[in-house]
Amino acid sequence: MVHSAQGEFVSGPPEIEAGGILTIDLGAVVANWRALARRAGPAQCAAVVKADGYGCGAMPVTRALAAAGCRIFFVAHLQEGRAVRQAAPEAIVYVLNGLAPGTAPAYAESNLRPVLCSLEEWRDWEAFARGHDWSGRAALQVDTGMNRLGLTPKQAASLAGEKGAADMLALVMSHFACAEDPSHPLNARQMGLFQDIRALFGTVPGSLANSSGIFLGPDALHDMVRPGVALFGANPTPGHPNPMRSVVHLQGRIIQVRTVATGESVGYGATWSAKRETRLAVVSIGYADGILRAAGGTDLRTGADAMIGGKVCPVVGRISMDLLALDVTDADTAAAQRGGFVHLLDDNIGVDELASAANTLAYEILTSLGRRYRRVYRAAPAS
Ligand SMILES: *Cc1c(COP(=O)(O)O)cnc(C)c1O
Repeated sequence: MVHSAQGEFVSGPPEIEAGGILTIDLGAVVANWRALARRAGPAQCAAVVKADGYGCGAMPVTRALAAAGCRIFFVAHLQEGRAVRQAAPEAIVYVLNGLAPGTAPAYAESNLRPVLCSLEEWRDWEAFARGHDWSGRAALQVDTGMNRLGLTPKQAASLAGEKGAADMLALVMSHFACAEDPSHPLNARQMGLFQDIRALFGTVPGSLANSSGIFLGPDALHDMVRPGVALFGANPTPGHPNPMRSVVHLQGRIIQVRTVATGESVGYGATWSAKRETRLAVVSIGYADGILRAAGGTDLRTGADAMIGGKVCPVVGRISMDLLALDVTDADTAAAQRGGFVHLLDDNIGVDELASAANTLAYEILTSLGRRYRRVYRAAPAS
């Protein structure tokens, strides 16, 4: 990572060589965390930075959030926990995917907290902590209806009755299955069940809400909220205006501009054909860079949009591994030129829009962001 003159951190190829430039606005990540923290208060606001910070870089994101006052981070894997520990030496770091057999010493070594997801994991952790006089605590995950990870409510209730169990826990948590749909009846059921379970553990803090959960009202908040995707600009309230700032900007390089005659097809499989004489810009980004193949355009279905010189230009034809084509017939010829850039993600085309063009969610767009871009991290303003 190189520090540039404008207070930016840069990695990857130099600008003239780059097929794509990915800009991550750390100031927007911090602003999003603060907005969620204000909304959730007095509950504490943690940050979920699993999968390399939703593809945005766990280390730079963790550093920026820790500097802004975030004290609690969640990751999925032990190895991700070590990276976050390095970026935020003072923080509390929870590892969501639980305690794999034999890994308890590694947790202690890096001062990480496992999220215990079954009675077996609880027993392993208890044996290790007592055997080694390890006072670092853990979280307990209870399944309230998602049927993914966690103790059953019945198992949790029986554990709560065991002497000393609550003393080993710093958090009791559960996870919503349908938080992005406020009208789904499972939300109320999970909130009710979690309320009862949490009460059995006395003063141990509780946590239920992910990004969208923060918008489900006061009963979802408990003592701590765990936003992930909204920190990175995705809309936690689908169907309503996005309250988050956009974080990820992606520019793709035009390699060449060519004209195709009416009736000619474009790309593998010849799935799109020109309805008029069409100017095409061929761009040096493809599905290997995370622009999912499903975002291509066919004669039956419009592809993802890009912006060139203020004009919307759709992807036409299949997306290749390293290339995609845009219909730039209506774009300014000066902007749509060899060496120029198109915008695939910006303030107008957010991660949710690109996701919907590919029939998926912002989660998948973010965690697929390519590794061969020139990456530019815009530093958060000093707080
Ligand atoms: C990923 C995850 C989160 C964060 O979810 P978002 O929807 O990205 O806010 C919170 N809690 C758990 C258990 C998770 O797995």
